Amino acid sequence: MSRPFDIGLETLTGQPLLSGNVARQGVGAGQRGTFFLETFGCQMNDHDSEKVAGVLLSRGYRQVEKPEAASLILYNTCSIREKAAQKVFSRLGEYRDKQAEGKIIGVLGCVAQQEGEDIFTRAPWVSLVCGSASYSKLPEMIAQLEAGNHRVTGLDTDTDETFETDVTRRDNPWRAYLTIIEGCDKACSYCVVPYTRGPERSRASDSILREVRQLADLGYSEVQLLGQTVNSYADPTARRMRFSELLLAVAEVEGIRRVRFTTSHPSDFTRDIVEAIESQPKLCDHVHLPVQSGSTRVLRAMQRTYSREEYLEKIAMIRNASRPIAITTDVIVGFPGETESEFEETLSLLSEVKYHNLFSFKYSPRPNTPSLAMRDMIPEEEKGRRLAVLQERQREIQTVQHATLVGETFEVLVSGKSRRENQWFGYSTSHRVINFTSQATELLGTYVQVHVTGAGPNNLVGEHAA
Ligand code: SF4
Repeated sequence: MSRPFDIGLETLTGQPLLSGNVARQGVGAGQRGTFFLETFGCQMNDHDSEKVAGVLLSRGYRQVEKPEAASLILYNTCSIREKAAQKVFSRLGEYRDKQAEGKIIGVLGCVAQQEGEDIFTRAPWVSLVCGSASYSKLPEMIAQLEAGNHRVTGLDTDTDETFETDVTRRDNPWRAYLTIIEGCDKACSYCVVPYTRGPERSRASDSILREVRQLADLGYSEVQLLGQTVNSYADPTARRMRFSELLLAVAEVEGIRRVRFTTSHPSDFTRDIVEAIESQPKLCDHVHLPVQSGSTRVLRAMQRTYSREEYLEKIAMIRNASRPIAITTDVIVGFPGETESEFEETLSLLSEVKYHNLFSFKYSPRPNTPSLAMRDMIPEEEKGRRLAVLQERQREIQTVQHATLVGETFEVLVSGKSRRENQWFGYSTSHRVINFTSQATELLGTYVQVHVTGAGPNNLVGEHAA
C-alpha cells in the first residue's frame, strides 16, 4: 500500500485549495469530503493512484489514511496473479456494511476491468467500477457519484486516450513516476494486461517534457518513465520523437539528475537506447529486461516474440556498452508444459547473464488469457520447487557479484532512515540498495557518496564517504 507524503495541493497546482465548506458543497452530501485509496500491484498502478488522488484533491476531497475516516473508499486493484485478485475481494468484503453508513466504495484497475459489472453482483455495496483505460473519464464518473448515482462504470478499453491530469498527488518527494505509454499491443499468452489496460497509447512528447520541467521546478531530481512496454513508445506528435530521443530530452531538463525507465520489452530494445545511456550520464546505468524463460520453446508458447538467442543478443549489446549497465529481469516458472530440461535452460540463462536482480513468479492462470486453455499444467508443488531452485541460483549469483563491489564508492539518493541510529538507505544509479551509516542529522532526498564496506545477497552496506 502506498503511503502519501504530505505535499500540499497548493504546491502541486499553484492554486489555493478550496475551503472545507466549498469542498463539501462541491461533493454534495456534506459527508463526502474525504477519500481513502489503497493500491495493489505494480508501479503503473501506484502512479495511476497518484493521478486519481490528484483528480480527487482538485475536486476538493481530502485524503485520509484510514478507510473508517473516509466517505469515498477506493481500491486500485491488480489481477496479474490469482492471489492478488482474491485479496481485493477479501478486502472488499470488509466493507460490506459501509455503504449503509453513506460511504461510497469503488474498484479501480485491472480487477475492475476483468470482472466488470459482475462486481456489483459479488459485492453489491460497490458503487464505482472503473478500469484504467477509462481513467480519463474519472472526473465525469465522480461527478455522477456526487450527483447521487449509485452505479457508475467505466469499462471501455477501445480508446486512444491517455490519463492526464492537471494535478498528480505524488507519494515520493524526490522521485517522480511518469507514465509515457499506457496499455499494451503485445499478446503474451499468460498476460491480462492487453485485456485490462487496453491498446498501446503513447503520450505526446511535449506534454511529457512540460511535466518533467514542472517536476524539476517542484524540486524532483529523479524521474522514472513508466510503461508496460516503455520502450515501445511512439510519439503521437509531429516531432515523432524516438524513445531514446525522449530519454535524452528528459535528461536535459535543468534540475533533473537521474532518469530511469521501466519496463522494457526485449523485442523493442534497440541499440540507440544503449547509445543514449552511453552518452548521457544522467540516464541511469540500469535496464530491466524481462526474459520470462530461458527456453525458446517456452518463449514461443508464451508468445514472447523472441528466442533465447535473440534475447542473448540484446544482452550482449547492453554488456558491450562503453559504460557498465546493470540488468535485472522477470522470470515465470512452471508455465504449462515446461519440462524439467526447459526449466534448466532458464537456470543456465541466469548463470550466463548474471542478472543484478531477479523478480520471479510461479505461473498463475488468469481469466481471458490464451494460456488458460493450454494442457499440461504444472502442479503447484512442482512450481514451488522450481521457484525455490531458481531463487537459490540467483542468490548465489548476487552473493558473488555483491562481494566484488566491496571497496567501491557509489552515489546514493538517500530514500530512508532506519530505526537504528545513524543508519540510512538509498539507491545507487544502478538501482542497488545500499544501507549505510552517517553521523549527518538530515540526509533524506540528498545525494551522497557511500563507500561499500560489506555485502549480502540482497544489499550492500557502507559508510557515508567524506
Ligand atoms: S508485453 Fe506481454 S507481459 Fe508485458 S504487458 Fe504486454 S502482454 Fe503483458
